[in-house]
Amino acid sequence: MSSSIRVVKICEMCSKEFIAKKTTSKTCSDNCVKRIYKLNKRNEKVAEVELQTAIKKAPKNFVTEEEIRIINAKELLTLNEAALLLNISPLTLRIWTLCGKMPATKIGKKWVYKRKNIEAITIRFF
Ligand SMILES: [Zn+2]
Repeated sequence: MSSSIRVVKICEMCSKEFIAKKTTSKTCSDNCVKRIYKLNKRNEKVAEVELQTAIKKAPKNFVTEEEIRIINAKELLTLNEAALLLNISPLTLRIWTLCGKMPATKIGKKWVYKRKNIEAITIRFF
């Protein structure tokens, strides 16, 4: 008696009935294996593109309440966080920093802003 099993299954790709040699088989043929693989790859790409579109569509200054809560609890802020608090673009803040308008410390490659400096500049400007 052969140890190999024979199970009638439905191919996930072409929906045809087939005799599976393994219970884990999902497709009837190598061809369907390839097709299902391609389909999955394509779906992954579509999902990625949809995600990127959603990100682009969202307002640029879109921040969640959780992010605001975290930013408000910090004493030291990154360029992006500081720009967010000042309601200016990160590029503008970079320019302000480089021309000395905005006090900041460079740690490695990153600019770090003290909350009190941001609050001070806000009072001076507005
Ligand atoms: Zn098939």
